[in-house]
Amino acid sequence: MLDALKSQTPVFWINPYLKENPVKTHLYSSLSLEQVHMAKALMSRFEPLLATLFPELADKPSITSSLTTIETFQSSLITFVGGRIPGTWAIKNDHELPISGSVKARGGMYALLKYAEELAVKEGLVNPDQSYRQFASAPFLKLFSQHSLMVSSTGNLGLSIGIIGKRLGFNVIVHMSQDAKSWKVEKLKDLGVEVIQHKGTYSDAVAIGREMASKTAHCYFIDDENSQDLFMGYSIAGLELKEQLEAQDIIIDARHPLFIYLPCGVGGAPSGIAYTLKTCFGKYVHIFFAEPTAAPCMLLGLLTEEKEQVSIAKLGLTGKTIADGLAVGTPSALASDILAQTASGGYTVSDSIMQRLQYLLFASENITLEPSALVGFAGPYKLFYTKEGFEYLKSHNLLQHAESITHISWATGGSMVPHSVMHKDLEKGRCSDINTFD
Ligand SMILES: *Cc1c(COP(=O)(O)O)cnc(C)c1O
Repeated sequence: MLDALKSQTPVFWINPYLKENPVKTHLYSSLSLEQVHMAKALMSRFEPLLATLFPELADKPSITSSLTTIETFQSSLITFVGGRIPGTWAIKNDHELPISGSVKARGGMYALLKYAEELAVKEGLVNPDQSYRQFASAPFLKLFSQHSLMVSSTGNLGLSIGIIGKRLGFNVIVHMSQDAKSWKVEKLKDLGVEVIQHKGTYSDAVAIGREMASKTAHCYFIDDENSQDLFMGYSIAGLELKEQLEAQDIIIDARHPLFIYLPCGVGGAPSGIAYTLKTCFGKYVHIFFAEPTAAPCMLLGLLTEEKEQVSIAKLGLTGKTIADGLAVGTPSALASDILAQTASGGYTVSDSIMQRLQYLLFASENITLEPSALVGFAGPYKLFYTKEGFEYLKSHNLLQHAESITHISWATGGSMVPHSVMHKDLEKGRCSDINTFD
């Protein structure tokens, strides 16, 4: 497996450490479903404010996305895969999340609003008889303008914190690596966000941000590698999905398993979602995290059990990939601890396959996603068309239930991508000479 990761050969890995009942290490046991419900309640308190600040949220001020099936895409893959993909394939449309158009809207928004609430409560500003629309009033703006938010980001987290942070009146500083997508950098600067780009790895950018924030007065660092608040924000998505499955009469049980495919960078988003789904559905949900072949940090961390202590540099990889949202070298400690106990496995996808999938999803369903999000769409064919996938289905007695699987690929981002950038990417995917998928 290490050799395959080194040579950037796509893999499908089954997690041997997955336990029917998680051992609940200290990080894991500090969490509860009740906390997820409390996080959701905080988001609800802020809905009137979001409706005031963002016209697009006036009618439906919730940070939620739809769940839809993709039959045409599912059958269009047959040509490339060489066979059918059994089951019902759906997509969780987080690329359509309001305000920042990526899964980072969930984590970033929650972490920031929780901090804003804490600040305001501490200052005695919050009037419990009024709605949180009061957060847009002058005293709050004045308070927040005296505080800075700092975050290290491959792009989308910065966008999420930048957009909402600026609207609330905070100063926002975003640390990014040198190879961040230039449209994301420009967009942040247009918002009035200070962007600092760094030469080293993403982990270096996080370390520098953390260090600078600790030396800056009134500065809150949203720590992508360590934040329980980001994690909680993502975990709310699990409750949302559970409700949607129920509303759409999709049963999840021994004979109707749920397979979830989650794009993974440092692991915050996938682990938060995985935590809630595993807590709600137990052994009937099968969670796979997905990474670029160029940056398989979570797979490396779990495989070697070295978690946040390991970096893809050890494999000689630099992490350069078109999946900029996943271009990270080291997994987060919290996330790898959770995924080690909730993920059935993980897999890697090459840039060229991502690009081809990006085009196919557009051509078949008219859905446009950024490259990072496409790794979630390689899972189902890998499950059925790799030896490891077959063994997994067999050992879980699922071969006879293949047709009643619900597959959900998490579409983590894409609606903010400028037209010209998307058009170029789709052209590359259309013209690519890939004929088989691995
Ligand atoms: C950040 C991001 C992810 C993964 O989230 P992590 O918390 O870094 O694992 C997936 N897709 C997109 C588009 C992202 O921006």
